[in-house]
Amino acid sequence: MTSVFDDLVGQEHIIEILRGAVAASRIGSDSQEMTHAWVFTGPPGSGRSSAAVAFAQALICPNQGCGACNECQSAASGGHPDVEIIRTEGLSIKVEEIRELLTRVAWAPSTGEWRIVVMEDADRLTESAANALLKAIEEPGTRTVWLLCAPTLHDVLPTIRSRCRHLQLRTPSSDAVKDVLINRDKISPALADFAARVSQGHIGRARYLATSESARSNRKSIMQLPLQLDSLTAALQAAQDLVDLATEEANKVSVSRDEKEIERLQEAYGKGATGRGMATGVAKAVKELEKEQKSRATRMIRDSIDGALLDLTTFYRDVMMVQSGNFESIINIDMHEQIDKYADFLTPASNINKINATMAARQVLALNAAPLATCEALMCQLARK
Ligand SMILES: [Zn+2]
Repeated sequence: MTSVFDDLVGQEHIIEILRGAVAASRIGSDSQEMTHAWVFTGPPGSGRSSAAVAFAQALICPNQGCGACNECQSAASGGHPDVEIIRTEGLSIKVEEIRELLTRVAWAPSTGEWRIVVMEDADRLTESAANALLKAIEEPGTRTVWLLCAPTLHDVLPTIRSRCRHLQLRTPSSDAVKDVLINRDKISPALADFAARVSQGHIGRARYLATSESARSNRKSIMQLPLQLDSLTAALQAAQDLVDLATEEANKVSVSRDEKEIERLQEAYGKGATGRGMATGVAKAVKELEKEQKSRATRMIRDSIDGALLDLTTFYRDVMMVQSGNFESIINIDMHEQIDKYADFLTPASNINKINATMAARQVLALNAAPLATCEALMCQLARK
């Protein structure tokens, strides 16, 4: 029998715990296995929110998470009355949003035992929002189950995390990701191998690369950048190219989504709405939505630049592998000639400096540094011998 947990690649240790909790939640026992607050942590792409959503499905499904019934499907699509999936579009989750959420989930579950809230970006809670949430989590006898997701436990306020059961997801192996792409997504073995290898365990990224030709060609252009750094002018140009490519990639996804959202909003108000009050209402709502979309677009561009920098590090990582004689573990097999050349040309110390410089650039970008200036400084460092 298929199960919602089948989709969690390389997370057997967690699936076992979640199945135990689902079983315990059925018998209505005081078993310690079921608790009403959980934190799922794991590196980007390990599938922490997929794990939380699968758990939510299993908790409300009559068959403990079959993936096929109405309950399972509506839970995953956000259409189940007792399952709420909070996906953050902005850079932070504000206290007003949490208060609004708390009034929504204050009711008893409408169909089953539990009301479930999946919060995909619990690390983006502002301090006051986290405190508002804490009160709800502490409430005794609640039928609400909180499933919070964050990159690491440190990203969650200590008062909250101390009340949650913690599950740490692992980065799945390239082979595990490859198998999923071949068996579930019907990707050809060669393409699956490439996508899994370069995505380093990030299943979402691997699937995207395997299915989008433009994403692959974009990545290819980014991977050429280290080879073009032969002057200061070239370094500055490479920085501009990197930002442009990453922006283009992010916009491709957001533009069509933005348009659909505006359309749906206008439909909700009724397209032919007349009367001054109604028209002002629509205009105001559209303006609000556009503001949210703008902040989401900024975040997506930043994420995309971060992804490009992560791709770049794989080049220098490969150089390091060749320098240390680990020829088998090269990620960018298609670039092996250039990698060999750089392995001769750069000293191991200088190569490691380049990896560190790229990681440092990612860190300052995460702290909201200006993207182009950060990339320019980085490319100048990478251009040095
Ligand atoms: Zn089901």
